[in-house]
Order: sequence, then structure tokens, then C-alpha cells
Amino acid sequence: MPPFLPPLPTPCAPNSTSRPARGLLHAIPHRNLKLPPGRRGGRITISSSSSTLSAAQDLIADAPTPRAFSALFKAASSATSPSPSLGVQLHAQAVVRGFLGDGDNSNTILSTAILNFYASCREPDLARQVFDAMARTNAVTWNALIKGYAQAGRREEALELFRDMRRQGHVAPDKYTFPALLSGIGRERGGGCMQELGGSMHAQVIKSGLHKDPFVGASLVSMYAAIGALEDVKVVFDDVDTLDPVVWSSMISAYVNCKEEQGALLTFYKMLCRDIKPRQFVYSSLFAICGSMSLLEMGRQVHAHSLKNIADKDAAMTNALLTMYSDCGCIDDAWRVFSSNDVVDVVSYSSMILALGQHGHPKEAFELFRQMEFSGLVPDEVTLLNLLSAFNHAGLVHEGLHIFDSMLDIQGIKPTYQHYACVIDMLARSGEIGEAIKTINEMPFEAGTPLWRIVLGACSKHRDIATGIKIAEMLFEMEPYEAANYILLGNIYTRLGRWTEAEKVRSVMDKRGIGSYDAFSWIEMGKKTHRFGVADRSHPISEEIYRNLDRLIGSIKAAGYVPDISFAAHNLEKDGREESLHYHCEKLAFAFGDLASPSGNTLRIMKNLRACGDCHSAYKYFSLITGRKIILRDNHRFHHFNNGACSCGDYW
Ligand code: ZN
Ligand code: ZN
Repeated sequence: MPPFLPPLPTPCAPNSTSRPARGLLHAIPHRNLKLPPGRRGGRITISSSSSTLSAAQDLIADAPTPRAFSALFKAASSATSPSPSLGVQLHAQAVVRGFLGDGDNSNTILSTAILNFYASCREPDLARQVFDAMARTNAVTWNALIKGYAQAGRREEALELFRDMRRQGHVAPDKYTFPALLSGIGRERGGGCMQELGGSMHAQVIKSGLHKDPFVGASLVSMYAAIGALEDVKVVFDDVDTLDPVVWSSMISAYVNCKEEQGALLTFYKMLCRDIKPRQFVYSSLFAICGSMSLLEMGRQVHAHSLKNIADKDAAMTNALLTMYSDCGCIDDAWRVFSSNDVVDVVSYSSMILALGQHGHPKEAFELFRQMEFSGLVPDEVTLLNLLSAFNHAGLVHEGLHIFDSMLDIQGIKPTYQHYACVIDMLARSGEIGEAIKTINEMPFEAGTPLWRIVLGACSKHRDIATGIKIAEMLFEMEPYEAANYILLGNIYTRLGRWTEAEKVRSVMDKRGIGSYDAFSWIEMGKKTHRFGVADRSHPISEEIYRNLDRLIGSIKAAGYVPDISFAAHNLEKDGREESLHYHCEKLAFAFGDLASPSGNTLRIMKNLRACGDCHSAYKYFSLITGRKIILRDNHRFHHFNNGACSCGDYW
């Protein structure tokens, strides 16, 4: 069969912008080119298509051999984003030079390298043409082709090839076949059909006797994790029973994927006990878990461990570390990670801008944004969203609107729904409720109920009862069983002291069987997390906590704190309202932290809902009378209390 001359591939998004309009090799001078240092050792390391081009120039100038062409294709396949057009032209050069026509050994090696290259570019049809033109095929070529189709999301064709491999090619699947077939499986979640496919693949693996192989095991773990079948993941994992870091790392990813954070942490712990070195992506996953659960001590330990084990941190790991420290309330540590990072990319800047905004440093966020532009990095829509959010947290409406209005003209980025939602939140919370509603009506998207709820929350804050009732009635029609809509309307009535109407809202909720959200706060002390609900007496030292809280409330009252009963629950009698405020979950968490932590230590407290106005006021006094800094993370942002004031400037 004659070797084919490949056509240029159809454009695909990731490479279309970098692909030149005309043939690259026509523009390459053939003489006076020097070899780059990387080629002298016989191994070419190429990280971008421009250095691939430079190596291609050298190749042509130096009287190339099939072996050199193979090395070049192998190097090009491992580039971050391999350029199919460059490969097509190199391929054409190899054909013209007769390197693919005689069916000898170098033909097979070179053809396999070209096939692999097209597969890595997600151009499986081109890979298939190379495959069909080959005089000899083996497990390596079948596996490469199967992987090419699987990674391009063409699973059916990959499966068909898997069947042909045994029937027509008479080649038995090896330990690389199943990982090839299962690669990229997370991209096409097909529910039941994927479950079925997974089961049949697993059976094939067992039939082939490869179920104890760590490489195959890791791919099965990833496949089951992608379809959320954690029980099957555990079966595979137990079956492999290995110390191979890839399997253990895949197992941690599986737990993360299935939102079983405790399982991930426990597996990490077991890994350390067995002295298995985790892969870099495992650290990124663990940082994300520690951040989302605010496990600062655990996060610090994982960080220390990563320093010992990973010499070259990638950007993803550093960004996850930065976000972990920010999520745990340690903005200074986040900043240190950002500043000491050698490779800073758009994601690092965006993450740091978000962190600064959440911790109430909008000016620094904006300065960093300017620095990013100055350094030549182009902000993306996430960067701008995070910057808008920083202005929103601080109530800097003018600055926020300026960025929003200039997005398309200056940055060339069309605002998405999230950008509009951020601006609408900003307008509504600053009291511009009419302007917020006007923006909702004019935006090119349909507003979802969460966005209307944001405006309803602002009506409560600014005591705009008429607009609040209208929005609440609309929301009751759209979502008659959503508790938040009733709670927000009830809050408007209690803020205005209209207790009877607030009680009516409460009784509608009861009649419809709608429960309200349970608020809870938690604090990490030593190696334990202590959780408190409202008026919770379940903690082992509950009596001491309540005694300390009563003492603290007495002291802050003497210092000027006045309880704000508009934040009390709707359904209480007048006399019970003030007392109920005292035992809000965040106050209990502080009273415990104050008992359990040495005097003067900073306390980090988390809450699952937004901070309540009365607790916010009490915390300011707590910081004043105890001399402690308090960092409160609610479900929206961070409040840093120090010496009687909060970093949010009472705007949240
Ligand atoms: Zn409260
Ligand atoms: Zn605050």
C-alpha cells in the first residue's frame, strides 16, 4: 500500500489561532542553521510549537534520517499543544524523502511515531490513514490508534478498534490497551451507558488477567470515578493492592470527584503511613479540600509535605495552595505563596485578586490587576469577574461600573451572566435597587431566581418593603417551596419591627412544610473541628462555653454593645428575642475559641450562611475587649475583626 500524502487537517479551536496561513517549511532557509543544545544529547525536548519549528529547521539543514524524523515526531507529540499542521508538513517531507515507502524497520518506527503524533493532536482520522498504510501493525500501533479515538471523544470507534484488534489484527490486548480505551472518559458522562461500558471493560480486564496491574487499575479507578461509581472504585482499588503512587493518587482523585473529602484525606494519610510519594495533582486536590473545609492545620501539614516531595511545583499546584491559604483566612500566607511563585500566570493573578477582594482589600486587588496588565498578561473573563467582585465586596460601585462598562471596549471581553449578576448585586446592596432591576430587565440574559433573591435581600437591608413584597410574590410563584424566599421576606418585616406580618410568613412556611436553613459555625482547635448550631448544648464542655459567653456578653454590653433584636428569629415572643440572639452559633463558636485558645491568639471561625448583623456587631466588641483578632468566614466573604472594627467597614 503506498504511503499517503496527508491533507491539512480541519481547523480545531486550540490550535487555530497559532496555525500559519501558508506552509511553514517553505519559509525555512536550508543552510547555516545551528543545532540547539537540546539536540546534541540525542534527545529532543520540545515544549512549544515554535521550538518544534526550530528543531524542524535544524533537521532539514542536517541531512535528516528516518530516525531523526521519528525523534522529532516523538518530541512534537509531547508538546503542550502539538500543532497538526506542522506535523502534516513534516510528514509530507518524510514521504517525499522516501522514508515511509520500503516497509523496513525504520518505516515501522517512523510510521508509529507519526501515528502517535496525530493521535496526540486529536486527529484520529489522520492517525488511521497512517495505520492503514503500515505494512506491519502491533500492540503499540493498535493502542496508539485506540487512544487517539478515545481521547477525541469518539468512544464507539475506539471500541470497534478494540474488537478489531483481536479479531482482525490477532493482537491480544496488553496493559496499555485498557488505559488507552478508557482515556479521556470523564469528558463524556453518559450516565447508564457509561456505567454499562465500565462494567464490560472491567470484565474484559479480569478476563485478560490484567486486574492486578497498577497501570490498568489506575485507569479503571479514574473511569469509575468519572461516572461517580465510588463503590466500584473501591473494588478495583482493593483488587490491585499495590504501593504504586499512580493508583493511590487516582484513588484520592476519585474521592474528590465523588465529593467524599474525608475519604480523600484518609487515603492520603494511609499513603504517608506506607511511605508512598503522592503525585503533584494529589497535592492540588488536597489543598482544595483543606481550603473548602477550612482545615488550616491539615493544609499546613500537606504544604510542608509537598515541599519535601515536589521539587518543581507546577502553576496549578501553587494556585491551589494560594487559594487554600486564602480560604482558611490567611491572606498573608496566600500573598507569600503568590509572591514567591516563579511561574505566575493569569490563573495565579485571578486567584490572588479574588482572595484580596474576599478579604476586603479592593485597592490591592486593583493594583495587582494593573501589575498583571503591565507584565503583559491578558486578563480573561474570570480575572474581570474577580476584580468586579472585589469592588462589590467593598461597595465601590463607581469603580465597579467603570470596569464593567469598559469590559467589551477595552478588554474585548463580552460580559457573561456572572458579570451582570455581580454588578446587579453591587447596585442592589449599595441601595440602588431601581437601577439593579433596570439592569436585570435590560441584560441579554433571563434572570434566574437566585439573582432576584439577591435583590430581595438588598430590599431587606435597605428596608424597601414595597419592592421586596413584589419580588417575593414573584418568587413564591416561581419557587413555592424555596425556604430562602420566605426567610428574606420575613427578615424585611422583622427589620421594620412588623412582627405580626413576620409571624404570618413563618406560619405559611409551617403550613407548607418548609423548614428553614440550619445555621452553624465551626472552629478548628488543635486537630479537631468543633461545630456549633444555634443554642447548641451538645459540646462536651457546653456549660463552660455558655458561662463564658454570658460573661462576654456582660462585658461587651458594658462597653457599649446594644443587641439588635431585628436579627432575632421571627417566631419568638418579645422577651425571648434578645436571649435567643446571645446563643447564635457564631457567638457560641467564639466563646469556645476564647476558652480553648491562649489569650491574644487570633481566632478563625466559619459560618455556613451569611454573618448575622447582631453577631457582626458583637464580634467587633469581642475583638475590643479580648484583644483578639477574629477572622470570620461566612458563605460569602471574610470579616477581619480587630480592635473594635471590621475590615468590611460594616458593608456586606
Ligand atoms: Zn447572630
Ligand atoms: Zn465585617
